[in-house]
Amino acid sequence: MRAIAVTPSSKTVSLINLAEPKLSSSTDVKLRMIEAGVCGTDREICTFEYGTPPPDMADLVIGHESLGEVVEIGAKVTRVKVGDLVVPMVRRPCPHDHCMACRASRQDFCFTGDFTERGIKEQHGFMAQYVVDDERYMNPVPAALRDIAVLVEPLTIAEKGLSQVWDIQQRLPWGCPVVPGKAHAHCHKAVVLGAGPVGLLGAMALVNADFDTYVYAREPAPNAKSALLEMIGAQYRSSQTHSLEQFAAEVGNVDLVYEATGASRLAFDMMQFLGTNGIFIFTGVPGRKGPVEIDTDLMMRNLVLKNQVVFGTVNAGREIFETAIRDLQTFNGAWPEAVKSLITGRFDMTDHRELLLGKATGIKNVIQLN
Ligand SMILES: [Zn+2]
Ligand SMILES: [Zn+2]
Repeated sequence: MRAIAVTPSSKTVSLINLAEPKLSSSTDVKLRMIEAGVCGTDREICTFEYGTPPPDMADLVIGHESLGEVVEIGAKVTRVKVGDLVVPMVRRPCPHDHCMACRASRQDFCFTGDFTERGIKEQHGFMAQYVVDDERYMNPVPAALRDIAVLVEPLTIAEKGLSQVWDIQQRLPWGCPVVPGKAHAHCHKAVVLGAGPVGLLGAMALVNADFDTYVYAREPAPNAKSALLEMIGAQYRSSQTHSLEQFAAEVGNVDLVYEATGASRLAFDMMQFLGTNGIFIFTGVPGRKGPVEIDTDLMMRNLVLKNQVVFGTVNAGREIFETAIRDLQTFNGAWPEAVKSLITGRFDMTDHRELLLGKATGIKNVIQLN
């Protein structure tokens, strides 16, 4: 079978031939991969910033945002059947008995760092024609989502962030008054930093919870992203026309910031405008570009005097994947055009070099695998 792989030792990215994986246990499932999304992580792996091949192998098959179809199942598999569409999870638990998170199947909170990740860390990823894995990592997807289910994995970032917001904000009376036809965050304001796929999917999740949602990004409006946000009822503001001060003044009390740029300077600048009882979610992973100056007195005063919470979030467990699948269905019902426009191109495996090494274009580009 064909697969897209990096070879860190020779710093090459190529289409390789691999033996088709076989079932090795009675709970294994074999997937014929339909497509995989290209994201910043894949592009960074292709610049050899990180990405580790499986032990004793030179190549790492990349790809972690995917959709596959079940073509074979082990004798004891109960969660999926042949013909089902599934989105596999990315992270696999560490082996240590003392890791409470992994032992509780919450490897997204692994304590030891010895987890593996398909397509990123010591396990082949999903940009391959076939994949075999245990059924416990498979998330069945309704057939109606076939054209958009590749968005499930990137949506889990926002879903995991939001699920923690609901938990954390139970620390205070934060619930909005019940209004028929409105979801539970209708009295709150949210800011999304960045209008890439993670930011746009995050905006959809926030609007879906009825946050009054504002997205702040670089590109001047109107553009494809601002048009998409208009379709879902979110506001778009460009940093070219609105300073952060102006933007924050326009929003009012910022109840939540969802950071989706990986730009630490912008994020910490925004943090000074986080409102009373506000909560700030970091999802980006910045490159190390050297220190920048921030007003730590102001930040600490705000954190204390405004009861603020700042947290970071990575990866997702099975429950979050299930929430993401449900919500993607809801988004698709409410805003089919907007959801469809997130996927800006479908390409053949032979186009991988341009997609992974060329200039980043569009919103979410997808590689078809079969
Ligand atoms: Zn990704
Ligand atoms: Zn662990």
